[in-house]
Amino acid sequence: MKGRNLLMIPGPIEVEPEVMQVMGSPTTSHVDPNFIESFGQALEGIRQVFLAPSSQPFIVAGSGTLAMDMAAANLIEPGDRALVISTGYFGARYADILSRYGGEIDVLTAPIGGRVPLEEIEGALREKSYKLTTLTQVDTSTGVSMEVAAVAELTDSHETLLVVDGVCSVGGEELRQDEWGVDLTLTASQKAISIPPGLALLMVGPRAMEAWNTRTQPVLNYYADFGNWLPIMEAYEARQASYFATPAVNLVAALSRSLKLILQEGLEARFSRHHALGSAMQAALQALELDQVPIDPQYAANTLTAPRFPEGVDGKAFLADMKAEGVIVAGGLHPDIKSQYFRIGHMGPTSTGDLLQTLAAVEICLHQQGYPLQLGTGLAAAQREFAGR
Ligand SMILES: *Cc1c(COP(=O)(O)O)cnc(C)c1O
Repeated sequence: MKGRNLLMIPGPIEVEPEVMQVMGSPTTSHVDPNFIESFGQALEGIRQVFLAPSSQPFIVAGSGTLAMDMAAANLIEPGDRALVISTGYFGARYADILSRYGGEIDVLTAPIGGRVPLEEIEGALREKSYKLTTLTQVDTSTGVSMEVAAVAELTDSHETLLVVDGVCSVGGEELRQDEWGVDLTLTASQKAISIPPGLALLMVGPRAMEAWNTRTQPVLNYYADFGNWLPIMEAYEARQASYFATPAVNLVAALSRSLKLILQEGLEARFSRHHALGSAMQAALQALELDQVPIDPQYAANTLTAPRFPEGVDGKAFLADMKAEGVIVAGGLHPDIKSQYFRIGHMGPTSTGDLLQTLAAVEICLHQQGYPLQLGTGLAAAQREFAGR
């Protein structure tokens, strides 16, 4: 017994031991030269990981929801119109956040497991003018991915700022912020960026910075105000200390190390490794004749998979059996179908071996729950997928 479970949920995820080692190093002053250097490197590193050399990074203590909140607080003024493209729970959350700041919000909601069609987005953008549009690259409640590049073309031609919630995608799914014309991408530390929870990361492009800069009213959230954080980010990137609110010193140092590892792997290699993990999961689901929340396998994300429980399987008992097998997976999140499915995260350092171990446990536990399957069927399909690459 290794005395630990394999953590396969869509965040927080397992992180590289050397990242944990940095996390566990003695806490330094936020003006210590070593910390200034690691903060500076983290700021430079996230520009590269988001493929956004022209954008302004913000690294702030908080979770992904704070990153969503910061984008909304800084870009929306009371009365501004925003369009939310929703493929699940986190799209709905974005509509809530934007209305707190007085935004007038329209929401395009996909059917559960579906995408919002591009024609529908274009139709909405043609009908009204929106200051900003939000899009969730991968909605963690449905496992549905959206086509960011295609949406960015539409928002670009209709002159609305595009904010991408990349919390379950940046560092795993392909995302090219500058090349695609995304105005703001946000994420959190505990997903594909691969460090423990606690940091909100935003990459703000020139048009979004300009929209903030030309506001007529103050930002209605003190902690979230870009105006408070911009001088801090600029100072640390220039290797000088500066204070607004205490940075999460250990997390920033861990971030700097994790970004280094991501860039060492190489972004193209990382995108294709996540694609291989996603494809192996899709092959296994098909072989096991398991349904999933995404209604078309083409919509399924590479960073997580959302299989539906087969008829007759007790979801709660299945999750408990999985834990007894040493693999932690997550239950459902979308309120309308919560008890009908489960979620397997496979991002960041997830290896071929981790995925095969998880599939083996899924087969054992479905079998224990009375689902008729030939043990090894899904595993073999995943192995064939890996072997074919
Ligand atoms: C996890 C997640 C969030 C929320 O992040 P927290 O760190 O839990 O606040 C937002 N959007 C998406 C797509 C997510 O996966």
